[in-house]
Amino acid sequence: MDNRKEDISSSAVFPEISAEQQKLDRRFMRAALTQAKKALDKGEVPIGCVIVYEGRIIGRGYNRRNTDRTTIAHAEINAIKKASRVIGDWRLEGCTLYCTLEPCQMCAGAIVQARIDRVVIGTLSPKAGCAGTLLNILQNPDFNHQAQITDGVMAGECSELLSRFFKELRRLNKLKKTSSEMPAGSD
Ligand SMILES: [Zn+2]
Repeated sequence: MDNRKEDISSSAVFPEISAEQQKLDRRFMRAALTQAKKALDKGEVPIGCVIVYEGRIIGRGYNRRNTDRTTIAHAEINAIKKASRVIGDWRLEGCTLYCTLEPCQMCAGAIVQARIDRVVIGTLSPKAGCAGTLLNILQNPDFNHQAQITDGVMAGECSELLSRFFKELRRLNKLKKTSSEMPAGSD
């Protein structure tokens, strides 16, 4: 993308995406969904991410917060670490990050710090989204870098995965509560 610099002001909203790019976006979002399913298999909130450079995935990540017992093990951070290892630099200029859920404040901050060009989002996050829902950290004009944002790519699949997970979690919690409410010795 050589016209990146002139695009900065217009990219502050939602730039036109060609049909070819839309097809690629869906392809890479599917790869991010595959990562989200890995999180699901571990009993983690199913969020996945891939980072693409010159048409190739260079970093994959999924939410491992409970597995790794650290708040920083979000899908985006894990993918950024891997992509940086591949590129051999903390700067990820020219990269596009695909995430199944809108990034939180920590991940949006890391995306800006890493100077990632474009962020493609599956579904928005009403409780933590910092790509425009609660805050727009990715496009704050006062920072030295702004990222293009495309959202709603395969939104149905991305949100469906999350809602199924939380539904199941509520069911299990209810079961746990019911069994703990039973007096000892009763059946
Ligand atoms: Zn995050």
